[in-house]
Amino acid sequence: MSVLVIGSVAFDTIETPFDKAERCLGGSASYISLASSYFTGAVRLVGVVGGDFPKKAITMFNDHNIDIEGLEIVKSGKTFHWHGKYHFDMNMRDTLSTELNVFADFNPRIPQSYKACKYVCLGNMDPDLQRGVLSQVEKPRLIVCDTMNFWIESKYDELMQTLKLVDVIIINDAEARELTKEHSLIKAGKKILTLGPKFVIVKKGEHGALLFTKDSLFSAPAYPLEDVFDPTGAGDTFAGGFIGWLAKTDDFSTENMRRAVIYGSVMASYTVEKFGLERLKDLSWIEINDRFREFKRLASFEEI
Ligand code: AMP
Repeated sequence: MSVLVIGSVAFDTIETPFDKAERCLGGSASYISLASSYFTGAVRLVGVVGGDFPKKAITMFNDHNIDIEGLEIVKSGKTFHWHGKYHFDMNMRDTLSTELNVFADFNPRIPQSYKACKYVCLGNMDPDLQRGVLSQVEKPRLIVCDTMNFWIESKYDELMQTLKLVDVIIINDAEARELTKEHSLIKAGKKILTLGPKFVIVKKGEHGALLFTKDSLFSAPAYPLEDVFDPTGAGDTFAGGFIGWLAKTDDFSTENMRRAVIYGSVMASYTVEKFGLERLKDLSWIEINDRFREFKRLASFEEI
């Protein structure tokens, strides 16, 4: 089934304690689309870029069968540019600059050919824009939404309205605590379930992720990589793998939702192995499934 992805398409300048990359292709929609493209051949992207957007990036989307009819190119403008620097503890990062450029006026318009998409992934953006997208699509089967502390702090009421309309919220641990004012992630996850979403995923960085439903809790491990090279986009990649698997299987049973969390984690574990999209863009289905099985082995144990 098809996946509609809306979010930022960006140039990222990334500094880690070990290396630096200038203006590599990034943005939430790029990571989500690329990750989902391994599961479904029908990814449709909505975003905006400037006249400086390189042909080779377009080629990369084409090579992954990502439909970019909804990628607006503002010839007179410049592409969104984000610059971040990671601490030695790479769970921590500082944003050094955010040049929104053409993204400042982003008001997603969903092309007619995208409107019947059955799976919708709303990248992290203004909750009013997220609802604007939902008003343009026809009866999706599943709506997944990402958000961040900036929107929790500046547009809390608007975010609450968006949460009432979505099926899945993917949020990190600090944001879950901030949103609910609960220190316990278990209490936080359960509280978010009362705000609208039927599924809540709390990401815990290198410590895995929790999936909450009304009557179950699943704790997924993270893949124990020896070297995390660049964590940028891990959360978006997780969302892309998660929704991609669901779009491929169209099954919302508890067991399959758990598999989706593991596929999200598999994809994220590859993204962090190299800068930007470098690792994600050249994966094979065999590699993806090998790592899926490794996740199973990692978390498996026997009763006495
Ligand atoms: P993540 O590491 O999952 O938080 O996602 C990183 C991606 O988010 C980078 O590729 C950035 O280009 C993009 N990004 C950073 N700030 C924003 C923002 N304010 N709005 C949308 N996307 C952003």
